[in-house]
Amino acid sequence: MINEIAYGLGSNRSCIRDLFEYGRARAAIVGNENVYDYSLGNPSIPAPKAVDDAIRDILQDTPSLVVHGYTSAVGDLATRQAIADDLNRRYDAGVGAEDLFIGCGAAPELVAVFRALAVPGAEILAVAPYFPEYKPFVEGAGATFKVVPPDVPGFQIKLDAVEAMLTENTVAIILNSPNNPAGTVYTRQTLQELAALLTKKAQAFGHPIYIVADEPYRELVYGDVEVPFIPTIYPDTVVCYSYSKSLSLPGERIGYVYVPKAAADHAALYAAVAGASRAAGHVCAPSLWQKVIARCANLRPDLESYDRNRRALYDGLTAMGYEAAKPDGAFYLFVKAPGGDANEFSQRAKKYDLLVVPGDGFGCPGYFRVCYCVSYEMIIKSLPVFEALMKEYQ
Ligand code: PLP
Repeated sequence: MINEIAYGLGSNRSCIRDLFEYGRARAAIVGNENVYDYSLGNPSIPAPKAVDDAIRDILQDTPSLVVHGYTSAVGDLATRQAIADDLNRRYDAGVGAEDLFIGCGAAPELVAVFRALAVPGAEILAVAPYFPEYKPFVEGAGATFKVVPPDVPGFQIKLDAVEAMLTENTVAIILNSPNNPAGTVYTRQTLQELAALLTKKAQAFGHPIYIVADEPYRELVYGDVEVPFIPTIYPDTVVCYSYSKSLSLPGERIGYVYVPKAAADHAALYAAVAGASRAAGHVCAPSLWQKVIARCANLRPDLESYDRNRRALYDGLTAMGYEAAKPDGAFYLFVKAPGGDANEFSQRAKKYDLLVVPGDGFGCPGYFRVCYCVSYEMIIKSLPVFEALMKEYQ
């Protein structure tokens, strides 16, 4: 007797993984340098040197039993304090160490928050385009997953659609900015308007509607574009943060959940996040990495190579006639498929060993995602392929 939903999730590979595996197989035949694999969002800049230095220092100056031992279930106090200090320096947000729960990356943190909020009948909204794992995370928590249609072509938030979808059962709306897959950043104005709407509806329904801010890309932003810190606009926000992308540490599984003191039912919500994480077996995040973050919480990524890639792709593709959302953040470009069918485009691109992900899984058919955390040389070499493809549609 095996759980059918779990079996389905474990035995069906995602479209992104399929493309990635296809790319590996093709590379074995035609050579790595002849496959243009834009499928996976795996950082392509190394972790800052200070991270490696911190590991060496910790191993030298901390007893082994402490480095490798269990920490407090919610995370080392020194780690939480370092993160709180950094957030307060940047956003003057009044964050306390006691408001932070150290997690094993954004994925298990989101799972814990959804479980913490999933009262019977709960509905959780996500704004398309959205990270596909939200659906199994929300449904696994026992809540109903509802998708707010995309606001094309700028990929802000369709507030009238949100308003129409909010019901007495809505407990939360998930926001991801900078966004995977759109590469867009929600403006302060968008967030303020959403906050006003949620406040009005929460009052009418007599219970809070939380924003779950999924923020692994918070520091991946280009030029002088602002990424507002959502709790300072709407206190009923729970932040799920990860160092996977900002410090290029996706394999190390480290991040945090922040429950602001001003959030409704703060103490109960924090306890429920810790409890849901406990029930999922995710307490006491990796000890060595907690100690690294205690020393590196104020580090920022060097975005120069992502920015160069971003400009080469965006300028290159738009000059050929492709239409894409303005890529202000993260490391994704979301492009309108010529011909209108992104699945067909992605299949056709495979003939050129060009791998791009159709937007259907992100709740946005008709667009495809290009991850530009790749080498600059690959981008330059792939541009004629994009051009040849575009010509097929003209
Ligand atoms: N949320 C978004 C939007 C992501 O793109 C990712 C990973 O790609 C995650 C969450 C999961 O991140 P983590 O590696 O911290 O679990």
